[in-house]
Amino acid sequence: MLNLILFGPPGSGKGTQALRLVKRYQLCHISSGDLLREERANNTSLGQEAQKYMDAGQLVPDAVVIGMISNKIDQQWNSIKGVIFDGFPRTVAQAIALDDMLAQKNTQINQVIALEVSLEELTQRIVERGKVSGRSDDTAETVVKRYEEYQNKTLPVAQHYEHQNKLVAIKGEGSIDDITAALSAVVDRIGQ
Ligand code: AMP
Repeated sequence: MLNLILFGPPGSGKGTQALRLVKRYQLCHISSGDLLREERANNTSLGQEAQKYMDAGQLVPDAVVIGMISNKIDQQWNSIKGVIFDGFPRTVAQAIALDDMLAQKNTQINQVIALEVSLEELTQRIVERGKVSGRSDDTAETVVKRYEEYQNKTLPVAQHYEHQNKLVAIKGEGSIDDITAALSAVVDRIGQ
């Protein structure tokens, strides 16, 4: 199996690049943000609980997200070659839970690829995306909170995987095609 984490701050292009990589490598895309938005759209109790955190630019509690991802992995497992995790894990507790979930299935994360983008560029991208995404959290004000959450709670996830020698960083600025090429070069090197 090939299990990857696309890592990076909000607006770094994880979603865009994940869609390209899942096609290229025939992997399953698991985006915690997309799953949470789906729960909200279906007005489930999980979606209702998540809503207040998402609108405030805060992370949804670990137990809620870990349970949701664990269910998703179990549903998809038999028919997949591997997974690209996008937006998950976002805390060290989530990373430990993910490592355990995969170990129980006799597999593991192969590589964590971090997309590096400046705060200036992130803010610009998110405000532009907000004009078309309809996402209530894609605003200049919420970006500040989301970035703060990233710095305080999510960056330690990179260290968690650096200790496992699984972290590689690439520049997330430039053309979408060039970034896909850089990501693919990393993926192609795995296992060689
Ligand atoms: P995203 O689409 O990945 O930018 O996520 C949008 C929002 O969903 C985040 O700002 C959080 O409120 C919530 N969210 C997504 N993924 C997670 C996660 N792994 N842990 C906690 N909250 C999350």
